[in-house]
Amino acid sequence: MSLVRLIYCSRFSKEMDAQQLQAILDVSRANNPARQITGILCYGPGVFLQCLEGPRDAVNDLYGKIIRDPRNKDVTLLEYDDIAERVFGEWSMAYVRAEDLSGGPAGFFGAPERFDPYSLSAGAALLFVRSLLGEKARFR
Ligand code: FAD
Repeated sequence: MSLVRLIYCSRFSKEMDAQQLQAILDVSRANNPARQITGILCYGPGVFLQCLEGPRDAVNDLYGKIIRDPRNKDVTLLEYDDIAERVFGEWSMAYVRAEDLSGGPAGFFGAPERFDPYSLSAGAALLFVRSLLGEKARFR
């Protein structure tokens, strides 16, 4: 089976409250195991970055749904590659808030309070996602 990793970012089409965010996580955690998809969703003010890992067809199909999801806009592919193993194999969809990261988003994004995944190159997006594994204690 061909495994891939896909990293994208998007903006909310309108402001989301905690309940709407939880609904996205609930659907993700309900659907992803059957599709063998794992990953992480990182939330910052107005912006998501998500990493999806799994069988190529399943990841591509889900990404299509996410692009069409009216809660999202400006969906931008940051990184896509074949992988030999998963980083987030233990999580159907881990979730972390950028503001909860140790040192805040400043470490990666250069400015306090600034979470700007659109500024990341493919390589930097992958480094950022890998760095999130060190933040396990802050996953919700
Ligand atoms: P249905 O549930 O049949 O919905 C039909 C349409 O309505 C779809 O276009 C759907 O996107 C939209 N829709 C569904 N719920 C709402 C709502 N509450 N408000 C507005 N529109 C809605 N799904 C996963 O399975 N796994 C993931 O990891 C995942 N990650 C996501 C990350 C983000 C940032 C967002 C915004 C959504 C994510 N989703 C995820 C949800 C995904 O976009 C689909 O809504 C979901 O997979 C159901 O797809 P469906 O085609 O079966 O839609």
